[in-house]
Parts: sequence; structure tokens; C-alpha cells
Amino acid sequence: MPGKGKVYLVGAGPGSPDLLTVKARRVLGEAEVVLYDQLAGGVRELLPAGAELIDCGKSGSKHTLEQGEIEELMVDRALSGKRVVRLKGGDPFLFGRGGEELVVLREAGIPVELVPGVTSAIAVPGCVGIPVTHRDHASELVILTGHEEPGKEESSLDWELLARFRGTIVILMGVKNLASIASGLIGKGKDPATPVAIIERGLAPGQRVTTGSLGGITEIAAEAGVKPPAVIVIGGVVGLYREEELCGAKR
Ligand code: SAH
Repeated sequence: MPGKGKVYLVGAGPGSPDLLTVKARRVLGEAEVVLYDQLAGGVRELLPAGAELIDCGKSGSKHTLEQGEIEELMVDRALSGKRVVRLKGGDPFLFGRGGEELVVLREAGIPVELVPGVTSAIAVPGCVGIPVTHRDHASELVILTGHEEPGKEESSLDWELLARFRGTIVILMGVKNLASIASGLIGKGKDPATPVAIIERGLAPGQRVTTGSLGGITEIAAEAGVKPPAVIVIGGVVGLYREEELCGAKR
């Protein structure tokens, strides 16, 4: 029997090949198997040609792997002695089910190494001049998934608390539910004049920023045809947005 392999949970950053860490690139270069989620074009070019490449992309392709299948493949390849890279967008442990994969690997007794990544939640707003904290505007930050709407019966989020929250709110995966999130927050008492920015395809070709107030953003976003992937930022720091490019050329 071959010896036990290892799984590296690796963050690919928000979409530009320049934003993988040095360690992510090294580990990727040494991988025998790579299971990767949807990646921006430039990052896909970094996949090692000699490795078994498994596309786990969650949307777009005809045959998308279920989470259970991804976990099985990962465990199977590691148990057959392979060096496996599980490559995920941004940081592996911020949404994207990296935590669940860690638990599965632990239960299977497979050695795991984490390679943290640059998260879109901070880097994408940053690159359009929006720092998520700033002494004059926000000393707290909350990052939440837009899959949980205020109207949902058993939402795991405390919408009353979020409406009262004075720090910056960053929402990932929130485009589809923008209308109910905005009206839900206002309904719980958040000021409709609170500034909002939506950054689509941050740090990637086609990056676009749409801004408005919490009360008006739903209509503005609908008119602009805002689409995922996008990061939504709510709070006073949005006032720092400028059209300047802070992260250099996008590729
Ligand atoms: N682990 C990832 C987040 C996974 S959830 C991270 O740390 O960044 C996927 C969501 O992240 C998308 O729906 C979108 O909200 C956001 N996202 C990821 N990359 C992005 C990008 N380049 N531009 C805008 N949003 C992005």
C-alpha cells in the first residue's frame, strides 16, 4: 500500500495570479492532484500541467461535482499517497466550505496543511480605495453571506444586530438577495442613507463599481445589471471610494 498523502487547503486569492502567496505557488507547483473551484482566467494558467486537474467549479459547467463527491475524491487521492491541492478562491476558510473539508480530512486521518489566501472580502474593496476600517468611519467589520436573507424563516444571522451595527458590513454572495437584504436592514432600522458600494469582478478584467445609498442601491444595481461575483460594502468607509486603481493593472 502506498503511504498516506497530504492535502493542502490553498487560497487562490481574489482572481489575479499576482495575488497568490509565494507558498501557494510553490505548493501548487509540487502538486500531483489539484481540485479547483471556479478560478479567474489568469489563475487557471498557474495549474501545473503534469498534475491530475479536477474542475470542481460550482457553476457554468454541465457536470458540476457535488460537495460530497469533491470530498470523496480528495480523500481518495490522499489515501493513495498523492500530494493533493484543494485550491479555493480567496481564503479557504472564509465561506466556500473549507471548514467542512477540514473536518472531513481530519476524520479520515489525512494530514492537512493550510495555505491562507488573500480574501476578496478585504482586498476587493481595498483595491477601489475602500479600506474596511478607518478611524473616522468604522472600527468594526462584519463579513456575512448574502445567502441568508432577512425574510428567511430561520436565518442564522441576527438582522436586528446588523441594522444597529456601526462598523462596516461586507457581504459576499449577496447580489441575488440584494433587494431583500437592503429592505430588511432598513426595516430593522438601518439608515437608508447609509452608503453602499458593489464591486463586481474585483481585481479581474471587467471590474466594475456601482455605488448608492442603502435605500436606492437595489434599483441602481438592477439598472446597471449587476452580476456575481461581487462584494457588497455597506458603511461610511464607502465614502472613500475613488475611481483610481490601487492595485495596479488587472490581468
Ligand atoms: N473564500 C472566498 C469567498 C468565497 S464565497 C474569499 O475569501 O474571497 C464567493 C464570493 O466571494 C462571491 O460570490 C463574491 O461575493 C466574492 N468574490 C470572490 N472573488 C471575488 C472577486 N474577484 N470580485 C468580487 N467578488 C468576489
